[in-house]
Amino acid sequence: MITDFLDLGLSNEILNAVAELGFEKPTPVQGTIIPQLLAENDDIVCLAQTGTGKTAAFGLPILEYLDQENKETQVLVLSPTRELCRQITQDLQNYAKYLKRIHIVSLYGGAAITGQMKSLKDGAQIIVATPGRLLDIIKRKAADISNINTLVLDEADEMLDMGFKDELDAILESAPEDRRTLLFSATLPKEVEAIARNYMKDPKIVTVGTRNAGAENVEHYYYMVKEEDRYAALKRIADYNPDIYGIIFCRTREETQKIATALQKDGYDADALHGDLSQAQRDNVMSRLKRRALHLLVATDVAARGIDVSGLTHVINYNLPQEIELYTHRSGRTGRADRKGISIAIINQREKGKIKRIEQVIKKEFTRLPIPTAREICEKQLLHLINGINAAEVSTDIDEFLPLINEQWDSIPKEELVKKMLSYEFNRFFDYYRKAKDINIQEKPKKDTDSRKKGERKERKLSRSEKDSKNFVLEECEKGFKWVKINLGYKHNISPRTIVDIARECGANKSDVGRIEITNDCLYVAIKKDLAKKIASQIDGGTLRKYKLTAEVLK
Ligand code: AMP
Repeated sequence: MITDFLDLGLSNEILNAVAELGFEKPTPVQGTIIPQLLAENDDIVCLAQTGTGKTAAFGLPILEYLDQENKETQVLVLSPTRELCRQITQDLQNYAKYLKRIHIVSLYGGAAITGQMKSLKDGAQIIVATPGRLLDIIKRKAADISNINTLVLDEADEMLDMGFKDELDAILESAPEDRRTLLFSATLPKEVEAIARNYMKDPKIVTVGTRNAGAENVEHYYYMVKEEDRYAALKRIADYNPDIYGIIFCRTREETQKIATALQKDGYDADALHGDLSQAQRDNVMSRLKRRALHLLVATDVAARGIDVSGLTHVINYNLPQEIELYTHRSGRTGRADRKGISIAIINQREKGKIKRIEQVIKKEFTRLPIPTAREICEKQLLHLINGINAAEVSTDIDEFLPLINEQWDSIPKEELVKKMLSYEFNRFFDYYRKAKDINIQEKPKKDTDSRKKGERKERKLSRSEKDSKNFVLEECEKGFKWVKINLGYKHNISPRTIVDIARECGANKSDVGRIEITNDCLYVAIKKDLAKKIASQIDGGTLRKYKLTAEVLK
């Protein structure tokens, strides 16, 4: 692996642009991939995530061997979301700053297609696109990928996860055979392997740290509260961290909007990012976040995919993600560029098992923290205010107003004045926290007191599966959905992804499938009301691996 940009074999134009961006040395993925891409012509599967510097890893060599005189499309980069598309395009434009005749166009859904088709008129040597929109534009004969020499599949696992399989197949089949294909993915599920097998020529597999570059710097904490105290816990966490600059992850668009609105009402610089917003609204939110005019972004996983904002201090899981792998994506938004990052999960008592399973996946331990008390929060906020006042530069502009100020305040003793000023800033907190109760859950010691009372001498040890399934309480199903109970659980090695796949095979779309709760013995999947019966009857009687499936719609 090369550790100096000067040794990578890049031209001065590109090196200058990279230096201007403040990149001092190549990241591991860059040091490994760039020399290979420049020297050889092999297809490559690279296991790397957002945050590892992979855009420059493929972007710099691509720009290096682009024919600037040729206006045809030579390179196609496919990415799962519009945000990532725009980000890659912006990054490539930055790297190409000193290359004169390079035209890069991005094509993604959610924006007018006519404008995008127009932007292709003058030729686009590089197209960065989401699969669906690109196919649409190819069908309208406004884009031509028949002469590309390089095809990049960025975040391939996400693209497949988002249901772009058919679009990808169509695009991969219509691209010229002698192209080079580079596939980037955080994980290597069998669907991604199948793409590599079917559409790539003997690809080299390069693994450069499967975790985010910053994952080592992230500390993981959880707070345990009753379900009804989740929002109060969020507020306390935010108040206890006066310099917080972070993303709060929710599971659904509705919840995202609800939490963002509540936070705004409660006086926080917060806003929502989810799929129901228009492109202009999303751009506005993102630009405010990047300028730090917004301190808390409340987002769904899909909307936040690929977002790269530097310096985020916290990631808060308002609810843990349904799929454990998503936790890594979420927490990877913080702890970048050698900064410390904090990933927090707010959980209820029934979710402790999930924390254990996440620990196994991320290979790090969580620390449980008590929810800060009202007093601790007020003290922290007060100190923050005092430190801010201490650090303030005194402007000479204030001098001319001194007589007026003195006239107003001369008669008030200093101590009284300080109290008044701090109270003025602070009464919001005092008012709120005066009535605040302790919302921590005290864990009970695990004793079977009932059976002791009854004089049962032999305490039967419950197996893990009995315990979990016994303690499990199914919540009310989300609006518009119905719980479908299926007879397989963790002990049958079932993951949420398997369930989504089964539901899909039975004709459900991703949006038809809601929450999934898995216990050891069985699982519950929320399916859109009007489809629940049909899907359950299709699952019922089928088999998965060696297991016979039963499925029923719950009342
Ligand atoms: P990516 O994984 O491509 O999304 O990149 C993550 C972030 O790291 C982006 O903000 C890049 O601008 C930044 N970055 C990429 N390469 C380097 C480098 N060699 N040194 C410092 N920052 C970098």
